[in-house]
Amino acid sequence: MEPAPDGPVELERHLEQQMRAQERQLAAVRLGMAAVGALLLAFVIPDLPGRLALLVVVGAIAAWSLLVPWLLGRFPAREVGIVSTVIDMAAVTIAVYVAADAIDIYLFYGLVILATALRFGLGASLWSSLVMSGMYAAVVVVGGTLGDARLELLPVRIGYLIGFGVVAGLFSRIVIGRATDNARLRQRVAEEEQQREQIRERELLSRLGRDFGASLDRQATLDAVAEGAAPLLGGATIVFVVDDPERRLLPESAAGPDAELVAAWRAHAETRPPRLAEGLIGAVGATAVARQATEIATGDPDGMRELGIEWLLAVPILAGGRLLGVLATAGRRDRPLNERIGRLAEAVAERAGPAIQNAQLWSDLQDRMSRERAAQRIKDDFLSIVSHELRTPLTSIQGYSQLLEGRLRGSSGETKEMAHLRVIRSQVGRMRRLVDDLLDVSRIDRRGGVSIEPIDFDLAEELRDAVSRIAREHTDRRIDVAVPASLPVHADRDRIDQVLTNLIENAVKYSPDGGPIAVSAEGRGGEVEVRVADTGVGIPAEHRENVFERFYQADDDAGRRRFGGLGLGLYISRAIVDAHGGRIWVAANGDAPSGSVFGFRIPRVAMPLAPAEIAPTGEPPAFVLRRRDG
Ligand code: ADP
Repeated sequence: MEPAPDGPVELERHLEQQMRAQERQLAAVRLGMAAVGALLLAFVIPDLPGRLALLVVVGAIAAWSLLVPWLLGRFPAREVGIVSTVIDMAAVTIAVYVAADAIDIYLFYGLVILATALRFGLGASLWSSLVMSGMYAAVVVVGGTLGDARLELLPVRIGYLIGFGVVAGLFSRIVIGRATDNARLRQRVAEEEQQREQIRERELLSRLGRDFGASLDRQATLDAVAEGAAPLLGGATIVFVVDDPERRLLPESAAGPDAELVAAWRAHAETRPPRLAEGLIGAVGATAVARQATEIATGDPDGMRELGIEWLLAVPILAGGRLLGVLATAGRRDRPLNERIGRLAEAVAERAGPAIQNAQLWSDLQDRMSRERAAQRIKDDFLSIVSHELRTPLTSIQGYSQLLEGRLRGSSGETKEMAHLRVIRSQVGRMRRLVDDLLDVSRIDRRGGVSIEPIDFDLAEELRDAVSRIAREHTDRRIDVAVPASLPVHADRDRIDQVLTNLIENAVKYSPDGGPIAVSAEGRGGEVEVRVADTGVGIPAEHRENVFERFYQADDDAGRRRFGGLGLGLYISRAIVDAHGGRIWVAANGDAPSGSVFGFRIPRVAMPLAPAEIAPTGEPPAFVLRRRDG
């Protein structure tokens, strides 16, 4: 079957092809008739007058017919047809003239008219019959004599020629019309089939695109690409991934209908992974341009000869302009390479790129996260060990200095040594608090929060105690307290005390000019709120949220640290408040030109979580609180 045309241009090409075929057939018929004519002239009617002239005409017709195939290769069939018609007309007319007295050659005009009708349709057929009638009449009139039978028959014969022109034209209209209709029909069928094929391909590719992105696991994605692409491509398909440090392409996944070829090719590619720029696959890896081959390259790096591969096609897998790998497909004789395979391979590679990139990024991220977690664990362990180790000597220094102080007090009353011992004890106390903070931080990091043991106590009383304790240490400072007579809560007393102490001591520490400090507390529905306001250095708005971060310390304008400390107090305070199901915050002190207000809220009563909900730590179980429902 002829290939079906598939578009208006195709249709024209198809019709031109048909006309050429017809012209060749007409030339063959003409040649046959010339041969018969020549034989007749040579053997059957050798004494025909004007025989030589007729032989020349027959020879000219034969020569022209032999020339037609060559001319058809260079000129449009229509032009060749027009010239053929003119030559035919001239030849018949000359023959009619030469053989006027012997035979009736005018009948050959009929054949010329028929050929014209087949070539150009009804109109041309009619015109040619008129022209030939004229030519015939002229020849008869010029060559005839009065009483010549031909002269008498002229009107009938002209009528016959014109009638033939009409009939031949109508006949050709039916034949040519049907041929054109057939061609159009075939074209439509082919177009529809092509559209259906395109829809099928689009659906298939969009399904593949979804399958490729279904998993974030790198190997699962590579397998999905190879397995999804395999049925559409050659006998075997391999997904190669670029191995940057080695400048090689590693076969990461393979699939295909030809199981034997899949296994053999994969084994070949694993033992000899293509190097970039080497062989066809390597060349695609180096240039990111698709290539195909049906011939073995020097040295056969792609294994075409070794594996009996007939053809090989490789397309780059790109994402964001970066080459990630190569999709290679190959086939043996039973599965030839065609234009569809090339198109699908490119479409598959296009969809595979982003999916593979996502999977790779995800796996890189996982690696990095697990490395970071490991580093964090080492650091937490270190912090925990160091703090524990520091605590023991500090406890004994504190204990022995207390012992010495007691003895000195008993023996000699207040002395200079006793004052020195008190300094030692207070500095050791400070150091212990720092070590305790470090230990708390390491616990928070390892457990993801603080453990608390809630009891019933009076927050108002706790607050008053904390303020008077700190006021005793800072006799020069004014600390105002505004709390109700009692504020019962169910919370971790020591931990809440730690938060209160931290906030009040910070207020003292960060108001070096000695401004007043106001501490207040009140009940708010099911919660209690505590506020500590100072008129000190304050915190720029953009840093307020940062102060609750680990090791955060604000610098002064020159970038120097003005106050001591580790930047842990607020971090621990927030963890404690969080564990109570509360919230801690900081704002500018609106009642003073400078300074800050730190506040926190916790529920009056909180519910401990079940032990299973606490992260395992190896330490005694503790309580993490949450709000009571409602
Ligand atoms: P430390 O006081 O040991 O540095 P904190 O966690 O208690 O650690 O505080 C973190 C930082 O927050 C401090 O370094 C300080 O810059 C800022 N800050 C805390 N409290 C105040 C305050 N009352 N006024 C101004 N800045 C404060």
